[in-house]
Amino acid sequence: MSDYVRSLLSEEQEQSLVDAITKAELHTSGEIRIHLEKSTGNSSAEQRAKQWFGKLEMHKTAEKNGVLFYLAIEDRKLALWSGEGINGRVPANFWQEIIDLMISEFKVGHFSEGLIAGVEKTGKALGEFFPRKDDDVDELSNEISKG
Ligand code: CA
Ligand code: CA
Repeated sequence: MSDYVRSLLSEEQEQSLVDAITKAELHTSGEIRIHLEKSTGNSSAEQRAKQWFGKLEMHKTAEKNGVLFYLAIEDRKLALWSGEGINGRVPANFWQEIIDLMISEFKVGHFSEGLIAGVEKTGKALGEFFPRKDDDVDELSNEISKG
């Protein structure tokens, strides 16, 4: 893994994050992924989040209920991007609340904890709108994506 990511996230912390995603997905058919990269380049975090959502083929879930946590490490930028099935179903301030929660943890140096808190809150909320079904499949990998 790139040094810039490893400096923020130990192997154990990365595993905890993957576990948090796996656990969150036990309650919902929604699919959560995390993508980390160094910088957004010339784009905004939202633009990059949208691009990576496509690159990771996150639009290809049956209920269009993928959620991407996008982080540009050096730029200290965070954006969330969610599938069409979700937009309009969650309250308007929903994503901002999750971002605020995560940033409050990041500010005190709790990087992996902040991410885990965001994943947990997202999983709970998605469970209300997209409950997990008995025949649920893991449509998108829970591994952390790095670019
Ligand atoms: Ca699933
Ligand atoms: Ca998954």
